[in-house]
Amino acid sequence: MGLFEKFNKGLRKTRNSMSGAIDTMLHGKNEIDDELYDDLEEILIMGDVGMNTAHELCEQLRDYVARHSLRRPDQVKTAIKEIVAEMLQGGEDMGLITLPSIVLVIGVNGVGKTTTIGKMAAMYKAQGKKVILGAADTFRAAAIEQLEEWANRAGVDIVKHKEGADPAAVVYDTIQAGKARDCDIIICDTAGRLHNKKYLMDELAKIYKIIDRELPYNDRESLLVLDATTGQNAVNQARDFKNVAEITGIVLTKLDGTAKGGVVLAIKNDLKVPVKFVGVGEQIDDLQPFNPEAFASGLFDNEVVHEEGEEKDDFFTTKSVLDGITEEDLAAETAAAEQALKEKEQNKEEETAE
Ligand code: GDP
Ligand code: MG
Repeated sequence: MGLFEKFNKGLRKTRNSMSGAIDTMLHGKNEIDDELYDDLEEILIMGDVGMNTAHELCEQLRDYVARHSLRRPDQVKTAIKEIVAEMLQGGEDMGLITLPSIVLVIGVNGVGKTTTIGKMAAMYKAQGKKVILGAADTFRAAAIEQLEEWANRAGVDIVKHKEGADPAAVVYDTIQAGKARDCDIIICDTAGRLHNKKYLMDELAKIYKIIDRELPYNDRESLLVLDATTGQNAVNQARDFKNVAEITGIVLTKLDGTAKGGVVLAIKNDLKVPVKFVGVGEQIDDLQPFNPEAFASGLFDNEVVHEEGEEKDDFFTTKSVLDGITEEDLAAETAAAEQALKEKEQNKEEETAE
């Protein structure tokens, strides 16, 4: 499956609700007026884009419309897509050049850290890199076993201690093993305990100290994993973690199961933290390096956009994009989006009547 198709598939729910609502709104307009911008801002906020970013996007759209002398509402969608792609640009590439480099994966329980590490290990291995994993989530035995399973699946080495061991000691041993075995990339899992900030801070500080000492000049990425299905909660988590830990990027998981894909914009534009990867499923190949254009296209294009040079195969495209989705599902989702918009308009009318 091509890059754009993966994003397209992963963003299906967000596209159907947010982009569907924008389409419905635009269809009902004859001109680009203040009301259009207001309605758009509301739809974006409902789509978890966040208040500030929704407002900023509309302001940029006003500029764009003036600069390009746009007149018709149906010209607006392409403009939004371009603005979003540009907003999302910058910092999305992983900076792992030194040998070895280290990736520390942090985040609260259940967001998808271990799964992401498994997928990432497989991805780098497929690129010909030698990867080693460190099971530094020592809080539960099951967490260590789970990472071990992923190491087997991806075909990479793992360093583990017993349940309850010192996470910093695991990171230390993984770094030593990584150096001794000429690994390119060391990836360490960690336990997520945001409910105990002091503990988390102390634990992470200890881990960073080990890395500073053992790999002082090596590239380091500290990735915060967030669950997209939690919407604004994910944004709040990012804000909290940013205050207590060094974060170089975000991995946004479970985009496939949610209509809240708009959080990517809030994270990148409001918090100024780049999104580096998105998770679009539970399988080993369901991790995508973040691509702003593919993401914007997945959000706003109703049809599949093909990568340059990619052969067009309509049957494959239709099948993969619509995998397991029936016409009824699509119709139901579109109807739900339209209903939501109608209700909103009714509420607005009632408000004005009052
Ligand atoms: P951790 O506690 O942060 O290590 O989270 P896990 O890696 O154990 O993942 C928690 C659950 O989320 C598991 O059932 C995963 O299969 C699931 N999961 C992780 N990433 C994704 C994703 O991108 N899409 C979907 N649908 N599920 C995911
Ligand atoms: Mg885990």
